Amino acid sequence: MIDVAELLKRPSVEKAMATLTNSSNRPVTVKHVSQWVKTQPADPEFLPGAAYVRTEHGDDIYVADVLPEHMLIHELIHPTLFAEGYPDVRVSEGAAYRFTSEKRQWFIGYLDGILNQLEHHEVHRRMAEDFGLDMVPYFRFKGEHSSAQLTQIIRTQPANNWLSRQKESIDILEMMPYRVHVWKSLNEYERYSPQTYSRCKRMFEIVQSMSFKAPHEAQATYRAIRDEVIRLGEEFRMDEQLNDLWRAMDFPLES
Ligand SMILES: [Zn+2]
Repeated sequence: MIDVAELLKRPSVEKAMATLTNSSNRPVTVKHVSQWVKTQPADPEFLPGAAYVRTEHGDDIYVADVLPEHMLIHELIHPTLFAEGYPDVRVSEGAAYRFTSEKRQWFIGYLDGILNQLEHHEVHRRMAEDFGLDMVPYFRFKGEHSSAQLTQIIRTQPANNWLSRQKESIDILEMMPYRVHVWKSLNEYERYSPQTYSRCKRMFEIVQSMSFKAPHEAQATYRAIRDEVIRLGEEFRMDEQLNDLWRAMDFPLES
């Protein structure tokens, strides 16, 4: 089992911790995943890997034994972005008035996961550029998981499930920077859904030409991606009411 105290002394980790504490005054704790204790009914029994848990008291980060330095720095960047005022995700009340609060609540939870994935473009850039991490082993590790995930999607083929296609497009967009490690599954996916795949490529061009280096830029990029996801829904002539929820989605800045 890794030694958390030793990990916290590594220069890259110290730098990432200092970057977070310079922009946030919330207390940060770092523990090993084996120390996870479930406190809420919705909490998992065990943490499958590194995690960032935002509580009312502060930021709790859990590390595991796989690539601990990469994973810890990754989890430290999420609250740093939050403290710097990066966009939050919300469904505008005005635009979403026609939906039941139940549907809205469900959608907000779903978008919360998507925001986390969109943030990864900036998280990965900082891991490499700001903290000098070699991203090859990290992307290779992520690639194994992503390939399995894509293969699962293709095998089970949730046909005409507009929601899954739109969610998949965000998953695939996240894989684009490490596509060399998932190319087989990506090729297979492209044959399965050429429309979704070309939309993902378009989204990745947006990510590359715009950027996430500051909160306002991230906001514009998120909005452009949202518009592409809506277009994807329109192309598939999917459930208009649910597509309207995407239209009601915005990324207000935190500060
Ligand atoms: Zn993350």
